Amino acid sequence: DTLEQSRAYDPQDLWRKDKDHFIHPFTDFSVFHDQGCDLITDSEGIYVTDSHGNRFIDGIAGLWCVNVGHGRAEIGAAMAEQATRMAYFSTFNNLSNAPAAELAAKLAELAPAHLNHVFYSCGGSAANDATVRLVHYYFNRLGKPTKKRILSRKNAYHGTTYLAASLTGIESNNWDFDTLDHLVTHLSEANCYRRPEGVSEAEYCDRLVEELEETIGRLGADNIAAFIAEPIMGAGGVLMAPKGYHARMQAVCRAHDILYIADEVVTGFGRLGHFFASDAVFDTQPDIINVAKGLSSGYAPLGATLLSDELYEVLSTPQGPGGVLSTGFTYSGHPVSCAAALKNIEIIEREAICANVREVGPYLESQLKTLAHHATIGDIRGSHFMLCIENVADKTTRELLPVEARVGDRVAFEAQQRGLIIRPVGHLNIVSPPLIWDRAVVDRVVAILDRAFTAATASLEADGYL
Ligand code: PLP
Repeated sequence: DTLEQSRAYDPQDLWRKDKDHFIHPFTDFSVFHDQGCDLITDSEGIYVTDSHGNRFIDGIAGLWCVNVGHGRAEIGAAMAEQATRMAYFSTFNNLSNAPAAELAAKLAELAPAHLNHVFYSCGGSAANDATVRLVHYYFNRLGKPTKKRILSRKNAYHGTTYLAASLTGIESNNWDFDTLDHLVTHLSEANCYRRPEGVSEAEYCDRLVEELEETIGRLGADNIAAFIAEPIMGAGGVLMAPKGYHARMQAVCRAHDILYIADEVVTGFGRLGHFFASDAVFDTQPDIINVAKGLSSGYAPLGATLLSDELYEVLSTPQGPGGVLSTGFTYSGHPVSCAAALKNIEIIEREAICANVREVGPYLESQLKTLAHHATIGDIRGSHFMLCIENVADKTTRELLPVEARVGDRVAFEAQQRGLIIRPVGHLNIVSPPLIWDRAVVDRVVAILDRAFTAATASLEADGYL
């Protein structure tokens, strides 16, 4: 069936229309003008199919989001049912809808105990953006209007609205773009692989915590509203913090009346084996957790900010006469997106998908590590279904290959030639699959990657990079 559907498209026509008219996010125009895009037209389970009918194992869950896998007819049916029954109505001014109410209650049930209040947005960037506005509003209402600055980290990824891009700390992401620098201070990334030479993990952790304390001392706690962090930094390269880092950072924040925001857009909804990683994996109790992606498994755009009872008490205190909590989007709590999320969560629970990740995740990790002998592989890291291979020129010095070598692209290309899509990010290759992979799929994937790395190494040698 899927092949029949993809054949119904005219691949050349689509390719041309796309290239001529669609401005893609994060696209390298030095390649795009010649090559355009590969069009993905069909999907099922762990597979996607392109417009030519080629089928691939999806190694990136769309964009770390299709957690329950592709082609779930029951999510489609739930969305269709909602769209026909009541596709849209306002959630402003004391109006609501059934899926938004049900989902808010469900999220409150799943989230850590003190997070019982949900502010909806349309994705991760918008969730982070809305969060900063709500945090500023919170402190303004508390009579602390100087508490504005947000502490983020180098190599963090929090999205690309103006505010979210300002929180983002991946330098190249903001080349030739402007950011709101007066609002954000970037601390060091937490990156065990590239920690200073000769420094133990524990000592490295001490240094990062000291940096936070020094920064608070320098800027003044009265000027800092919040610290935002991904539990594992995703797009920045699946960077692993030293053991105990998050809990210690949170303790320092708490001592200085600085809110702790966990950006769980990637880590949430099962990727690390739990609905939320903050408490279950990292022993933190954030004041705010932001989610998107796996919340609806990408079947519909949706993001959410989960807020503590304490924050809600202040946010929900009536304003003066004529005043309302005047922030939110036309599509906050969109019924079709919320219906998709509800069905998605039902599937995660019914199929014990978090348990699958806890079982298969360590196997995926250990099998990927059997590839470590390949010439370019400097590090294989991450956790469960959030993994990354870092390519280097020299395994001892950890020196990188020149950018022009495009090592990540080469590996991804060779994998795609062999039926697997993984994501190249500079010198990195990210593996962040749907959470339904089993051990047999892992074995197939690792066999493909083995051959892909052999081929990529040969091409790098042929071009004089190795
Ligand atoms: N936060 C994190 C940790 C992300 O990884 C992403 C997207 O990759 C975002 C926020 C932005 O989400 P969106 O692309 O849905 O706006």
